[in-house]
Amino acid sequence: MDIVNKTAIELLELLEKGEITSWEIASAYLKRIESSDAKINAFVHLDPEQVLKKIKTLPEGKLKGLPIAIKDNLCVKNQLTTCASKILNGFRPPYDATVIEKLEQAGALVLGKVNMDEFAFGSSCETSCYGPTHNPWNTECAPGGSSGGSAASVAAQFTPWALGSDTGGSIRQPASLCGVVGLKPTYGRVSRYGLIAFASSLDQIGPLTHDVRDAALLLNIIAGYDKKDSTSVNIETPDYLANLNENIKGLKIGLPKEYFDVDSNPEVKQSIQQVIEILKSLGAQFKEISLPHTEYAVATYYIIAPSEASSNLARFDGVQYGLRTDNKLDKESPLIDMYLKTRGEGFGPEAKRRVILGTYALSSGYYDAYYLKALKVRTKISQDFKDAFKNVDCIITPTSPTGAFKLGERINDPLAMYLSDIFTISANLAGIPALSIPCGLTAEKLPIGLQVLGKSFDEQTLFNVAYAYQQNTDWHKKKAEI
Ligand code: GLN
Repeated sequence: MDIVNKTAIELLELLEKGEITSWEIASAYLKRIESSDAKINAFVHLDPEQVLKKIKTLPEGKLKGLPIAIKDNLCVKNQLTTCASKILNGFRPPYDATVIEKLEQAGALVLGKVNMDEFAFGSSCETSCYGPTHNPWNTECAPGGSSGGSAASVAAQFTPWALGSDTGGSIRQPASLCGVVGLKPTYGRVSRYGLIAFASSLDQIGPLTHDVRDAALLLNIIAGYDKKDSTSVNIETPDYLANLNENIKGLKIGLPKEYFDVDSNPEVKQSIQQVIEILKSLGAQFKEISLPHTEYAVATYYIIAPSEASSNLARFDGVQYGLRTDNKLDKESPLIDMYLKTRGEGFGPEAKRRVILGTYALSSGYYDAYYLKALKVRTKISQDFKDAFKNVDCIITPTSPTGAFKLGERINDPLAMYLSDIFTISANLAGIPALSIPCGLTAEKLPIGLQVLGKSFDEQTLFNVAYAYQQNTDWHKKKAEI
């Protein structure tokens, strides 16, 4: 039986019928990781023996021991959790993130931790202290980022599904570049307790999967109010999987002209045009809309996100977590010197850039000019979406202006890297849900992604549109050959 080729739900059905055991499933994935991850570098912490032992201790639950890969910024009790940063070298959290607790209660098996950009700063997975992850579709290319390990591990069939986090596109952009489905839920839908914070007003945890049904099931499991995260919202979580509905007749879909004016790869534009034709044939109605403040989104994000990051990263100073410098300390002021040397040695160049940018934007005298101004523009961007959703049920755009780019191509040009997220950042600023689904391949056989954006807490509409599309196309079934 070709285990690794199946979706999570297909595997669950086999488990239910007793045609396969969770041990056989985990072994099949571990074997594939062992034989092929040298080419991809998706897993950064993996202990196959422990994984197999763990199966016996899992509670009975609807996930029946099904494995899942976890981004390295989510705390898993007693397991290495390093955000792909030297500064968290050796850190093992004493507790589980709420999403991990929920998964384990449902009987999921944590396979291991997967690679990411350091502290989720990046769009290519190249800022990791473990070296880059390679795109399974073409190993010379980046998988996208920051959840590059999560997306690549699903695309390479090392795991049926994975969790990632998304602050400005980090689930959707790698999902798009690796040809898998990725969802950033509404801000407040999923508890971030135990997610090592990047930018607390933007971060969300979400699923990366082979198809829409799996994404709906995984969101069912991780969503919900949590008193340990005061930003999680106390409203009912619908059963997204049971409510999947491919009938989109009469659904009003917006096409924001600002997103189509951008200089995207023509193949990307063409694929989105084909999506529009297919959705039209299924009865959806299209409408051109305007999100007038779109052009300020990247600049606004790159004030707010680094500002919050600089504050969140202040705790990594050699005292409580991970690395402490071995270097000789200055006798006059050893404590300050210990902080400085630890941070100097522990953070990579992109993390340092963010701390410096953020500290600058927050410092007195600049706060009003940068941070406060960015907050005001953020409100305008949110309002654009609120206005748009008075007339349409959801919005579609490309997820990324290009397919996967070569490793090394953008890493020395921060602006080019930051612009990789031009289509994804606004959803985080507005807090709304957004999903990416495969919708084509470039001539070079690299995946193209479609982004669907929706109203706050209306993930269901996104799933339904993507499901309707998926039921009528085969892009989500195409697999990378590694
Ligand atoms: N690429 C964006 C950044 O570098 C978004 C990252 C993310 O969503 N974590 O900040």
